[in-house]
Amino acid sequence: MRSNIHLFVVGSFVAASAAKVERLPKPGESLTAHAFALEPGGKGFNLAVACRRLGANVDGVLPVGDDMLSGLAVPALERARLPGEMLRRLPGATGAGIGFIDAQGENCLAVFPGANGRLGADDVREKQAAISKANITLAQFEVGDEPIIAAFEIAREAGKTTLLNPSPFRKLDHRLLALTTILVLNASEAADMASDLAGASRSPFDAHGLTEIQTFAEAVMTMGPAIVVVTLGQGGAVFCRSGDLPLHQPCFPVIAIDTLGAGDAFAAGLAVSLAEGQPREEVMAFASACGAVLASTWGVFDAFPDRAIVDAFLLDHC
Ligand code: ADP
Repeated sequence: MRSNIHLFVVGSFVAASAAKVERLPKPGESLTAHAFALEPGGKGFNLAVACRRLGANVDGVLPVGDDMLSGLAVPALERARLPGEMLRRLPGATGAGIGFIDAQGENCLAVFPGANGRLGADDVREKQAAISKANITLAQFEVGDEPIIAAFEIAREAGKTTLLNPSPFRKLDHRLLALTTILVLNASEAADMASDLAGASRSPFDAHGLTEIQTFAEAVMTMGPAIVVVTLGQGGAVFCRSGDLPLHQPCFPVIAIDTLGAGDAFAAGLAVSLAEGQPREEVMAFASACGAVLASTWGVFDAFPDRAIVDAFLLDHC
């Protein structure tokens, strides 16, 4: 059954560069870096890699430009065993990020969307057959609303499920929300959305405020989604479905080394397990295990766990 899962990702590709420095530079200052890395990244690419590593068949649309940085994409997809046809070449620059990481692990970065910002609805409609076939179509917010709406319309017309992770957060278009089956957000994204809905700002949710999360999720579910999942970092995650009491899955205790990408690993685990038709208790345990394994491993690309690692982790921890 597992190899029959088909997922489609509408997402970003970013050439991510990082310089390790003793301290973050001041305005106008040039520093010598100890190390430099240029790697394939982007939330869409990471989500596709994470789903593929869990054994799903993955297709999608990842936009790249026609500049030098686009050359990173083909080998990156090959290494991740993702189909090369996922790349959508658009004239101009590839998305690129530049970051500094200091000796304490503190960082600052800027991401230029490049081709991700030029992806249009027609680029996505070309993949109609693959979207219609996918059990779940997934999207994040490093691409614009129109391509996501186009993909979700096709998926829903085919009777399939859609999953939106609105990260980095921007105000949700009501058309997009109406087409979303599963909404997955972290504590600060949920607070931003709750603030938008209430017209007043609020602080991030935490594991002590499960009733507040339920109230927020119920308000969201009146606008389209059937399932709302809020992740709370070390506070675990909450699964809300209309008509059910919320299910809180505590986080698995691990020694966290690098939590960057935990949300992507969690979303991938959630999508794969839901597509397999698992009950919500197993879905949440599986997704949380994916997040915990990622958090206890250095890096992002190589840290996304495969199925054997997640299964062994769950055997040890349940
Ligand atoms: P994001 O990366 O989007 O901010 P979170 O930080 O909420 O997302 O993490 C997503 C999920 O990953 C959490 O709900 C939890 O299951 C798992 N996770 C995150 N951080 C840790 C940690 N330090 N230890 C164990 N699991 C973690």
